[in-house]
Amino acid sequence: MPDVSPLIQSLRAAVEAAPADVPLRLHLAGMLLDAGQQDDAVTQVAVALQHAPGDSQAKALMTRAMSMDSPAGTPPSGPPPAPAAPAAPAAPPTEPAPDTSFNWGAAADQVKDVLPPRFVEGPLATDGGGDPEGASAWDVDVPGTVRLADVGGMQEVKDRLEAAFLAPLRNPELRKLYGKSLRGGLLLYGPPGCGKTFVARAVAGELGASFLSVSVNDVLDMWIGNSERNMHELFETARRQAPCVVFLDELDALGGKRSRTQSAGLRNTVNQLLTELDGIDAAANEGVFVLAATNVPWDVDIALRRPGRFDRTLLVLPPDAPARETILRYHLCGRPIEKVDLGKLVKLTDGLSGADLAHLCESAAETALLDSVRTGVVRMIGMKDMLDAAKQTVPSTEPWFASARNVAMYANDGGMYDDLVAYLKKRRKL
Ligand code: ATP
Repeated sequence: MPDVSPLIQSLRAAVEAAPADVPLRLHLAGMLLDAGQQDDAVTQVAVALQHAPGDSQAKALMTRAMSMDSPAGTPPSGPPPAPAAPAAPAAPPTEPAPDTSFNWGAAADQVKDVLPPRFVEGPLATDGGGDPEGASAWDVDVPGTVRLADVGGMQEVKDRLEAAFLAPLRNPELRKLYGKSLRGGLLLYGPPGCGKTFVARAVAGELGASFLSVSVNDVLDMWIGNSERNMHELFETARRQAPCVVFLDELDALGGKRSRTQSAGLRNTVNQLLTELDGIDAAANEGVFVLAATNVPWDVDIALRRPGRFDRTLLVLPPDAPARETILRYHLCGRPIEKVDLGKLVKLTDGLSGADLAHLCESAAETALLDSVRTGVVRMIGMKDMLDAAKQTVPSTEPWFASARNVAMYANDGGMYDDLVAYLKKRRKL
C-alpha cells in the first residue's frame, strides 16, 4: 500500500538513511500499525529485531502486529489516528503482559523472505576444540581494500611509511644494493584514537597482505608458559597466512620498566617476541611484516627498542585538516544531513582525534533523532547540531600531550622524540 501520510513517508526516508537506527525504525513500525499497514509494520519490526534481538519494545510491537486480525492493509477497527497529531514517541502500547502463547516461529516464518538468516546453518564442530584444521585463535583479515590513499591528509606519515617501510619492501633489489636491512618492525606511537590502527591496516592493503591485529593484552595469560605459547602461535598463524602484516597494539603491555619488578612471566614473553622478531628475516618468515603501536612509547621495554627490533618509530598525530575532512565525511555519509559546512567544521575541530570526530557526529545525530521523536516531525541533522556537538567535544588527546611534554623535555635520549618535540614547539606546547 502506498504511504498516505507524509510523516510516514519522511520517516521511511529517514530509516533508509539510517538503517541501523532501531528506535527510529520502531517509531515507523508503530505509525504503520496505526495506519493499518500491518505487513509492512511486521517487516520493519523484524528488521529492528535483527539489530536488537532482545528489544522489549520491538517484541511488544511484534506481538501487537501479529495479534491484529484485520487483513493486511485494512485499517484496524476503532478511530483512525488524527492525521495532524504529533506522532507518539516510537508508538509502544502499554507494556503487554508476557504472552506465552505467542508463536515466534510463525512470526519468523512470515518474514523469512525479507530477512537474511540469523545463523549460518551447518554441522557443528564436534571435536571438542571446535577448531577446524589450520584455524587458530587469532582472526586474520584477508587482504583488505584500505590503502594509504584512504588515509586522509597525514602526508608526512605517508611519506615516512613509504621511505622507511614500503619502498624497500617493494624493491628487494634496491634493498640489497643499499644493504638496507628490514629486520624488526616499525613502532607507531601517538595519542589515542588518531589512526595508528587505520594506518597499519592501510600498510597491509598496500602490500596486498592479510592483516592480523592483536592487542598484546590478549596475548598475555595468567598461566605460566601460556603467554609465550600464544605469542609463538600468533607468529605461526602469520607465517601460514603470509603475506601478512602482524599488528601488535598496546606494545607497552609487555612492561619494560614495570616488568622487571612485576613479573618474570612478562620477561619470558618479551624474549619470545624477540625470538620471533629475530627470525623475521629467515626464509620461514618470508612475507611476515611486523608493525606495533603504543600510546606510551616511554613504557615500551628497552630490549624491544634495540636495533633490529622496533628501532624505527613513526609519530601519528591528531588528524590535520584534510584528515579531519575525510573522517567527518566518512562518519556523516549514510546519515540524513543538510547544509553542513564541512570547511567551517574542519577549522573548528583542530586538535580532535579521529575517535573524537566520530563521537561528535554521533552526538549530532542523536540530538536530531531525539528532537524528531519528541516533536513527531522528522528533521535532518543540520549545521547547528554539528556546531553544538563540536562545542561539547573536549579533545581526548590533551592528557596525552601533558605527559608527552615532560618526556620531550626531560627524556629525549638519542633524539627518539625529535618529531614530537618539533610538533610541540610548532603548536607552542613546549
Ligand atoms: P587507539 O590508540 O585508541 O588504539 P588508534 O590511534 O589506533 O587508537 P584508530 O582506531 O586507527 O586510532 O582511529 C580512530 C578512528 O579515526 C578510526 O575510525 C579511523 O578510521 C579514523 N581515522 C583516524 N585518522 C584517519 C585518517 N587520517 N583518515 C581517515 N580516517 C582516520
